[in-house]
Amino acid sequence: MSSWASDLESRGSGLRSEVVGMSDCLFCRIVEKKIPAKIVHEDDQTLAFDDVNPQAPVHTLVIPKKHVAAVQNCNAQDEGLLGQLLLACAKVAKQKGLAESGYRVVVNTGRDGGQTVFHLHVHVMGGRHMAWPPG
Ligand code: AMP
Ligand code: ZN
Repeated sequence: MSSWASDLESRGSGLRSEVVGMSDCLFCRIVEKKIPAKIVHEDDQTLAFDDVNPQAPVHTLVIPKKHVAAVQNCNAQDEGLLGQLLLACAKVAKQKGLAESGYRVVVNTGRDGGQTVFHLHVHVMGGRHMAWPPG
């Protein structure tokens, strides 16, 4: 296993974290409402809040409420959760007025992917043209 992958493992994808959350995980603390965030959508399995350092006029993060470090830490049981995450992204985009103009949905994963917070999150970005390829 690569070093960042084992790092993700060690940051918790196990049963305990799924049940009680990770007290040292920033996004788990946002889920627990112990750290403030501008929440724009919430359902039984997901939470969406505006990014504190927006890179576009609209920049919202959609996360699973249960702690999962990254997408490769998910398994077949998470199929519904992963679907709900994308559906939540579409709801957020519509709520933010991006449905017609378009938007980008991004999951930075691991070191080369630029992931800095090791609780799975989907960036929903829009309100300006997004360049391709990304930097
Ligand atoms: P990534 O680099 O893909 O792991 O993205 C992490 C994102 O979390 C960055 O865009 C940060 O600006 C954002 N972020 C970090 N702390 C907070 C916070 N307290 N509230 C909202 N967004 C945050
Ligand atoms: Zn977490």
